[in-house]
Amino acid sequence: MTTAPAPTLPTSVTVYEVGPRDGLQNEAGQVPTEVKAAFVERLLAAGLPIVEATSFVHPRWVPQLADAAEMLALLEERIGDRARDLPVLVPNDRGLDRALELGCRHVAVFGSATETFAQRNLNRSYDEQFAMFEPTVRRARDAGMQVRAYLSMCFGDPWEGAVPVEQVVAAGRRLLDLGASALSLGDTIGVGTAGQVGELVAAFGEAGIGPERLAMHFHDTYGQALANTYAALQAGITTFDASAGGLGGCPYAKSATGNLATEDLLWMLRGLGISTGADLDAVVATSAWMARQLGRPSPSAVVRALAGSGS
Ligand code: MG
Repeated sequence: MTTAPAPTLPTSVTVYEVGPRDGLQNEAGQVPTEVKAAFVERLLAAGLPIVEATSFVHPRWVPQLADAAEMLALLEERIGDRARDLPVLVPNDRGLDRALELGCRHVAVFGSATETFAQRNLNRSYDEQFAMFEPTVRRARDAGMQVRAYLSMCFGDPWEGAVPVEQVVAAGRRLLDLGASALSLGDTIGVGTAGQVGELVAAFGEAGIGPERLAMHFHDTYGQALANTYAALQAGITTFDASAGGLGGCPYAKSATGNLATEDLLWMLRGLGISTGADLDAVVATSAWMARQLGRPSPSAVVRALAGSGS
């Protein structure tokens, strides 16, 4: 039984699946290339419209995704030209060169809303990161690629604490001004709460950036991801990042959960009568399969509830 959507909520939502990239890059173990390709293929077959496939970050920083080119080649054998539409993360110009060589049509860059995380994660100052992204985004757009920009630490930073809303809006505006067509606002350490979400979306709106250009990337570290998602739905957001099975531990809080699980998101959206095109049972089956590959249970409450019941 589904209920009619409440009038203030959207009738459909785009789930942007990040498990194969954001999930697996934060997993301790190495996953075989064939398993990664099968994972992406199964997520697409489950009806998830966008699956971020991998990252061209240098293997020194992210050894888990060192097989990015091989994985995409394998995927192209399995799903054909559609593999080139899957977003791939490119940290800089060198990463973009690799994406261009492989004919990728959708890339993502990864910026920081704070000075400390820019220095620690990008080895650049806050200001320098935009100079680094400028040629990357311009060349990607010139090549006809779609460009998504991630912005991390939008709701709090482990070193700086609270992050002023104006600072987040200013950073987001700079990434969009470079030519990104969509901006994903990340609660990288999962500390955000529902009131902040509405405040941030409203501040972007006042700056002329409407909710249709924004996505939300919530982490469930403090158990707030779905409450924050609901607040974002009420604020008009219609794109949500999520990771199948909740893959991807948070590197800043050991044993805490990281990414919002796709299944937890789909369960809530289905209950609200909001369509996504995704088959929840098929995503659960995929995550249960991946949990067996990784040798540990999924942290997703919905996967645990449904996978145990024979789904
Ligand atoms: Mg994440």
